[in-house]
Amino acid sequence: MPASGQLMVLLLLCLLAMALPGVGAGSGRFWHLTDLHWDPGYEAAAAAGQPCPSGGGRAGPAGPWGSYLCDAPWNLLRSAARAMRARLAAPDFVLWTGDDTPHVPNEQLGEEKVLHIIANLTSLIKETFPGTKVYAAMGNHDFHPKNQFPGKEHRIYNQTAELWRPWLSDASLPLFRAGAFYSEKLPGPGMRGRMVVLNTNLYYDQNDETAAEEDPGGQFQWLEETLTNASRADEMVYIVGHVPPGFFEKKRGKPWFRRGFNERYLGIVQRHHAVISAQFFGHHHTDSFRMFYSHTGTPINVMFLAPGVTPWKTTLPGVSNGANNPAIRVIDYDQDTLQVLDMVTYYLNLTRANTMASARQEEFPEWEEEYRLTEAFQVPDGSAGSMQTVLERISRDPHYLQLYYEFNSARYDLEQCQQECRVDHLCAIREVDFLKYDECVKTNSSASAASSVWLLVFCMFLGFLSPQPVL
Ligand SMILES: [Zn+2]
Ligand SMILES: [Zn+2]
Repeated sequence: MPASGQLMVLLLLCLLAMALPGVGAGSGRFWHLTDLHWDPGYEAAAAAGQPCPSGGGRAGPAGPWGSYLCDAPWNLLRSAARAMRARLAAPDFVLWTGDDTPHVPNEQLGEEKVLHIIANLTSLIKETFPGTKVYAAMGNHDFHPKNQFPGKEHRIYNQTAELWRPWLSDASLPLFRAGAFYSEKLPGPGMRGRMVVLNTNLYYDQNDETAAEEDPGGQFQWLEETLTNASRADEMVYIVGHVPPGFFEKKRGKPWFRRGFNERYLGIVQRHHAVISAQFFGHHHTDSFRMFYSHTGTPINVMFLAPGVTPWKTTLPGVSNGANNPAIRVIDYDQDTLQVLDMVTYYLNLTRANTMASARQEEFPEWEEEYRLTEAFQVPDGSAGSMQTVLERISRDPHYLQLYYEFNSARYDLEQCQQECRVDHLCAIREVDFLKYDECVKTNSSASAASSVWLLVFCMFLGFLSPQPVL
């Protein structure tokens, strides 16, 4: 072959390599949506002037796009689906981290009804993203009776597996039926990414089925093996689930996992962090994140908690004004290393949407961009190191704390986050471990209490010395 011919072949090969997806992978994007909590009785109740079924007897105005006291009407979910298509119709994949049914007593649901709701939401997501891979996890509300997930085969696991069959690989299907967790290699040639979808409802302290078990469903052992194998195969992993470990940032001392399960989960992340690029969870309905550290205190991993689509104000005692604006999120990531490059959260200002709807009969309200992680917090990406910087910024600078706090409820609660609020949020972000969280709260509360005492003493001292009252 003459030299010019060889050059042509080389050039063609180069062009081919550039055209092939995954070869020399670049950045990609995916959606994370969570906690849709459809209330199928919303419209009928609103039309009859009754409080919505999910409101728990709390009466308030029921707007066309929803109410802060209620779970999502179908129109709100359709509007979210439409906004996702308008913003990013062809993501690499979708993460859907569960909780589909309304917050109503078990007596108002039943296995049939729960499965019917899961089926409807599955159809909505399939129609919104036809042909797109969806990694779906079950939420604690996606079962009957709610929260009571067994660590073994169950009809509901089988039925859900059938609904999600188009999204599950052949290997995932039997695993899902046995415990509702699975792991799959990310699609695309040359991709070394792996998705690990967990059923952390097995660790929830409201779950009586698994309370006495050491490793329900054998999920911990499976997770360790999966991460070990990923490391051997030079893969990078995302861990996805619904109920997260650690504490709720809106209620002091409120964890979700049982103590032993929390410890075991944390230990696994500490041992295998090198293959975990990030973790994505839901359940809180709020926008926050959790840091994971090595035993020497180096930030080694981050878990992103995505805000919910439902605006439902929590009835958890001790949480003040716990509603949120409906929100959805896009994550920019490196297709090779799965490093989180950026994150854009979109939200619907529900008050405004409802007002506009009655004034202008607008067909669909606009879901606005709420914030972009790298811009809002001035960090280069969403790595554990960068999220540690975000944590330090919000710890030290009241401007960043307030910014974080307003994003926490997708700009529903715009109150000032002060003393107690600050401690609750910062300790929840920093300490997933039960003992360390308690220490964090104790140290910071006593520190602020002590400084208040000293301030008081100081003021009194000034007051005694000064001839004029101190203003
Ligand atoms: Zn939920
Ligand atoms: Zn939940």
